[in-house]
Amino acid sequence: MIQVENLIGGEFVVTPECFEDISPLDGTVIAQIPRTRDVEAAVKAAASAQSEWGGLSISQRCDWLDKIADSLENQIEELARLESLDTGKPHDVALNVDANRSVNNFRFFAEFGRSMKSEIFEMSDATNYVMRKPIGIVGLISPWNLPLYLLSWKIAPALLMGNSIIAKPSEITPLTAHFFGKVCTEIGLPAGVLNIVHGYGPEVGQAIVEHPEIKAISFTGGTATGKIVAATAAPMFKKLSLELGGKNASIVMDDADLDITVPGVLRASFLNSGQICLCGSRVLIHSTIYDEFISRYLELLKSFEIGPVISLEHRNKVMSYIKLAQDEGGVILAGGQIPNKPGAWIEPTVIAGLSHKSRTATEEIFGRSMD
Ligand code: NAD
Repeated sequence: MIQVENLIGGEFVVTPECFEDISPLDGTVIAQIPRTRDVEAAVKAAASAQSEWGGLSISQRCDWLDKIADSLENQIEELARLESLDTGKPHDVALNVDANRSVNNFRFFAEFGRSMKSEIFEMSDATNYVMRKPIGIVGLISPWNLPLYLLSWKIAPALLMGNSIIAKPSEITPLTAHFFGKVCTEIGLPAGVLNIVHGYGPEVGQAIVEHPEIKAISFTGGTATGKIVAATAAPMFKKLSLELGGKNASIVMDDADLDITVPGVLRASFLNSGQICLCGSRVLIHSTIYDEFISRYLELLKSFEIGPVISLEHRNKVMSYIKLAQDEGGVILAGGQIPNKPGAWIEPTVIAGLSHKSRTATEEIFGRSMD
């Protein structure tokens, strides 16, 4: 059993109350997660570290990003193991998609920092300079589908630009953020520059968004949550980045090379059990190649390796849409059932014959619904 801890001011601490991290693979409890309710200590730690970190040169901070990438890369197998354990995704996906990208995010922003040029805009009577300064303390909130992949895409640029951080990973998938905190501490990242707090979104997530000393919020998650985050942050004039839900179509034209297109569209549909904001969750196929495409797609689906969905709650949501699809006139071509084993498994499901205006074809099935 893993005890997840908050990282505050370089120290790992646990709150008096914890809750369980459940494996989607078999329903067992894999970790205990701190139930953090406020961020005062994290804000204090971040405030005390910010000016020194912000005072480093860009080049020094780029070196730190590379150091983080090196250390993560040295432990990439462990990173992939934890991501797979927490999300249920196959090891190959955890390694080649999640863990690799987490490392590359730090390398990318180190390179980006080194290639930044000063921007000067001349006018006939003035010279305009672009000045880039740290914002101060930033709050970074991420979802469960690509846990460290998405959180590191926020952490790396925030560190590069000299900010100190309060990060909150999803309460459903805290393990790799916890591991990442250990990695940063081991390599001596100055205490307080990176603080990680765990807990429920409406409690600690909301506390981050509301805190007046946290000057910017970068949020990735569901559209319904994004609406709450925007409504809280906007009156405080915080800088705000929102990456929210989606409902994307793969469009197959009549001249498509099906040897390439069928595996590509299948991967876009089902990679990460379809739990990616840019997954091709609907497929529009030209009528002249429809029959051949579908038969090859369904055949290939039989050998596609897929994990469970993230939780039983989420599986219930998916099942409710499978029912809705049938009510809307859809015909199930594959899947639609819950396998008889523990965990949050569900058969990969293909439904045909729906109107492009149906709810099934227009609402995001993965993630929290829009109220
Ligand atoms: P979610 O909105 O339920 O949660 C996202 C994060 O917000 C979690 O850390 C959660 O604890 C936190 N949170 C919840 N309530 C909060 C509040 N009131 N204040 C502050 N934080 C709060 O989303 P999810 O179910 O974890 O993720 C799935 C969604 O994320 C899908 O809609 C998907 O499309 C979207 N997503 C978008 C992108 C993108 O780049 N656009 C990428 C990945 C996922």
